[in-house]
Amino acid sequence: MYNGTIFDIKGFALNDGPGIRTTVFMKGCPLRCLWCHNPEGLSPEPELYVKQGKCTRCGKCAASCSHEDCQPYGRCLHVCPNGALSVCGSVMTSAELAKRLLRDRDVYEMSGGGVTFSGGEPLMQHAFVGEVLGILAGEGIHTAMETSSFAAHDVYRKTLEHVSLVFADMKLSDREDHIRYTGVPNDNIKKNLRWLLDESGKKCIIRVPLIPGITDTDENLAAIGEFVGDAETELLPYNAMAGAKYASVGKTYPLSADEYRADERILNFFSHAVIR
Ligand code: SF4
Ligand code: SF4
Repeated sequence: MYNGTIFDIKGFALNDGPGIRTTVFMKGCPLRCLWCHNPEGLSPEPELYVKQGKCTRCGKCAASCSHEDCQPYGRCLHVCPNGALSVCGSVMTSAELAKRLLRDRDVYEMSGGGVTFSGGEPLMQHAFVGEVLGILAGEGIHTAMETSSFAAHDVYRKTLEHVSLVFADMKLSDREDHIRYTGVPNDNIKKNLRWLLDESGKKCIIRVPLIPGITDTDENLAAIGEFVGDAETELLPYNAMAGAKYASVGKTYPLSADEYRADERILNFFSHAVIR
């Protein structure tokens, strides 16, 4: 049985697939997209999270303490008078997570919903996620996954075996641009997406983030439109609030852009696209 590290479990999720769902946010992502709005999902390890609006910089948590759970972080997790300090990320076994997810079975059945894996990148913990997916499939639960598709091809195919619906990103078609803006090349992503679209027989929705001047150029959208053909596609306009959580995990938001104003131009590059 595998252990996994999770940074959130959100019940009653309405936008992560059909029906009412429970969404599991897996910790860790091999990409570093400049526009990422989940900075607490990037590191694979549990980490300190400081709610910036609540922290008064009183310094009480910096005093040394003897609590065992505080030692890895060099801060006392139990003295904050404002409830500003916590650890983001907890470790569970696959059986523990499956048990938690099956608690909401009545909600899934009543609403036509299920479980969605998100992140971070769920495939970074593929052995753990695959084990949970196998348990859920055995219980007849509908499952979905939001993924960058950045994984070895055999891992991709094996882990998606029990996934009912795949939300797969396609951010940038050009290999060098992909490296420049996400930190990794897109060769394995394209290979995985081709299999997903042409051979897997799985229901999938391609998601394209619209980042001004980076992903929303005519050249990139035309190339992605050609690659995905008539696949169902969702266009996700950049959210200017994306940087809000970076300071909470001690990171600096690398992008500065205005709120995205989606226009009809971008729809012309796709056969079946909607703007979300
Ligand atoms: S793939 Fe998703 S989670 Fe990973 S860095 Fe990019 S936007 Fe963030
Ligand atoms: S996290 Fe809490 S205890 Fe630590 S400096 Fe901020 S307000 Fe003080």
